[in-house]
Amino acid sequence: MKILSVNAGSSSLKFTLIELPSREVLASGLFEKIGITGSMYTIKFNGEKITKECYLADHSFAVSKLIEELVSNGIVESLEEIEGVGHRILHGGSEFTESLVLDDNILTRISKYNELGPLHNPANIMGVKAFMKVLPNVKNVGVFDTTFHQSMKETEYLYPVPYEWYTKYGIRKYGFHGTSHRFINRSISEYLKRDDLKIISCHIGNGGSLCAIDSGKVVDTTMGFTPLAGIMMGTRSGDIDPSIIPFIMKKTGHSAEEIVNELNKKSGLLGVSGISSDSRDVENAAFEGNERAILAQEMYAQKIANYIAMYNNLLNGADVITLTAGVGENSKNMRKMIIDRIQSLGVKIDDEKNDFRGEFRLISTDDSKIPVYVVPTNEELMIALDTMELIS
Ligand code: AMP
Repeated sequence: MKILSVNAGSSSLKFTLIELPSREVLASGLFEKIGITGSMYTIKFNGEKITKECYLADHSFAVSKLIEELVSNGIVESLEEIEGVGHRILHGGSEFTESLVLDDNILTRISKYNELGPLHNPANIMGVKAFMKVLPNVKNVGVFDTTFHQSMKETEYLYPVPYEWYTKYGIRKYGFHGTSHRFINRSISEYLKRDDLKIISCHIGNGGSLCAIDSGKVVDTTMGFTPLAGIMMGTRSGDIDPSIIPFIMKKTGHSAEEIVNELNKKSGLLGVSGISSDSRDVENAAFEGNERAILAQEMYAQKIANYIAMYNNLLNGADVITLTAGVGENSKNMRKMIIDRIQSLGVKIDDEKNDFRGEFRLISTDDSKIPVYVVPTNEELMIALDTMELIS
């Protein structure tokens, strides 16, 4: 069965065509600058890569081009081979607790949450509509970033603010990166052949979040009402004292929106180091002795370590810690910095085992109280697996 896994942005469309159940990636690619000048697309398949510049007026046109390329390059013989399309959707509020087959009525219900994810949800919905138009006979499945976290209890998802903020305005923790944490939960549970694991899943990439999982259910996660909360990230601050916002508004004359934008785009590793949001650049500068890069690295590792310790307490002792995403999968240096900061939990890194990139491996010592694994994430595959399940 061939399934397309899609992530539509406001001017982009990323796709992966996956054969299931073999999990083979048949093609992947990106359509960029949709609706603006300079639009182009790249498709990778069979060790080849094609890049074309071509005006992509809207998402529907990009989808038509995608289908045309898949057929003309022999990646699929006909449209009918594509049996389902799975879409990443950022926000399903508290309403959507599972992935589901999409129709016009459900899209209208999802659009109620556009104000909670204004940069992503309208674009995600636009992507779904484009596929509905171009492939009217193929089922579309919505896979939300928020659903996995819907098992959190009130004690975790409520903020200690006036209760009416929750009942009237929906102010609560929703959590994000759910598709990645769910994939990690599934991978490590299958590998260890247990479905009762207490897992601390650390997704550390440009964005980052931790998730405490007990027997497949989320107990708590670090992102909150928006993806700005929790650990320090590439450009996002993570948790800060909210009183900083009105204080900086007065000092700079900037609006609340402008300051929140700085907390989203100019903070984190970038803000502290003053060098880059890319952990490789910061790491290189730290190796060369740049003091702010060293400080940024230390803050980054410490904040993750603190949440691991907190979640170990919340889970009443974790069975396993997993690291994933760009930094977690690739930076042996950052992995070591994090694990060295949770020695109070009896967790120890094995430097020899930790010396690799991008694979599923155990990196802790044999006598580490909690084993630590690097588990590569695969959100595209998780979306395709949900799609297969729901359309079969
Ligand atoms: P993601 O958002 O999951 O794509 O992760 C992006 C982050 O992963 C960026 O900060 C990259 O610098 C980081 N990353 C990717 N490869 C490496 C590497 N080899 N060493 C350190 N960081 C890496």
